[in-house]
Amino acid sequence: MQRRARILLFGGVAIFLSGICLFLFFYHPVKFLEVDFLNVGQGDAELIKTPYGQNILIDGGPDNKVLAELGRNLPWLEKKIDLIILTHPHDDHVSGLIDVLKKYQVGRILMADAPSNAPPYEEFLRMDYEKKVPVVLVAGRQTITLGADLRLEILHPEKDDIGAGLNEDSIVARLIYKKKVFLFVGDAGVKTEAELLGEKIDLQADILKVGHHGSETASTLDFLRIVAPKLAIIEVGVNNQFSFPGEDTLWRLQKVGAKILRTDLNGTIKVKSDGEKIW
Ligand SMILES: [Zn+2]
Repeated sequence: MQRRARILLFGGVAIFLSGICLFLFFYHPVKFLEVDFLNVGQGDAELIKTPYGQNILIDGGPDNKVLAELGRNLPWLEKKIDLIILTHPHDDHVSGLIDVLKKYQVGRILMADAPSNAPPYEEFLRMDYEKKVPVVLVAGRQTITLGADLRLEILHPEKDDIGAGLNEDSIVARLIYKKKVFLFVGDAGVKTEAELLGEKIDLQADILKVGHHGSETASTLDFLRIVAPKLAIIEVGVNNQFSFPGEDTLWRLQKVGAKILRTDLNGTIKVKSDGEKIW
C-alpha cells in the first residue's frame, strides 16, 4: 500500500513538472503597450508604458495631481521615468512636471526651445538643472526607436516653426506599435494642422489625443479626415473656465466617426494594445 502511494506521489510530481515544462516551452508572453491618459483636471498628461519596460511621460498637468496618478498607474515602487516630453511650456502642461522631477528618477527630457519666462516653466528648468537631467531640444523631424517594432516619430516643431505662439510650438508626436498608431498633438491648433497637412506626411492614427483640450482653435475637419481616428481622447477639466471642449469640435470628431472619451467624464483613460488590437 505504501509502495503504491509512493508511485502515485512520484507519478503526480512527474506529471506536474512536465506540465510546467510544456507551459514554459509554449508560453510566449504577449507584450502590451499601455497609454494612460491621466485625469489631472484642466491640463494634459499622458503616461506611456512600453512592452520594453520604458516609461514615458508626455506633459505633467497643472499641479501635483500627476503624482497620485503616476502612483496609481505605474507598478508599485517604480520610480523611474525614462523620458519626459514637454509639448510646450504652458502652466497646464509643465507645472506638474516640477513635482515629477522631485520624486522620480528622470532619464531625459525632450522639449522645444519655446520662448517663455512664466514662473512654473522657470521653476521646471531650475529643478531640471538641480537634478542634472539631460535635455534634448527638438529641432526638426526625428524618430526615436524604442524597440524592434515600436517607435516614436517627432513631427513638429521644426526649427523655423518656433515662435508662432506657445500652443503652435507644441511637440507633435506619433507613437507606432506594429499596426497601431497614437497621435499626440499637445495644444497645437489650426496653423500647425495646416502645416502638417501641407507636408504630406503620414498622419493616420487609431487614437488621437485631441488638440488643445477640444478647443475650437484646433481639430479642423480637414485634419481629422486625414488622421481618421477611431478613438479621440480629450483631456479636460470638469466645468473648466474655457468651456472646453467646444460643441463644434465634438461635432467634427463625430463626423469623422471617432468615438470620444473625455477625462472630465471618464476619468483616467487606459488604452492597451498588442500592436494588432486595441482595448
Ligand atoms: Zn493646454
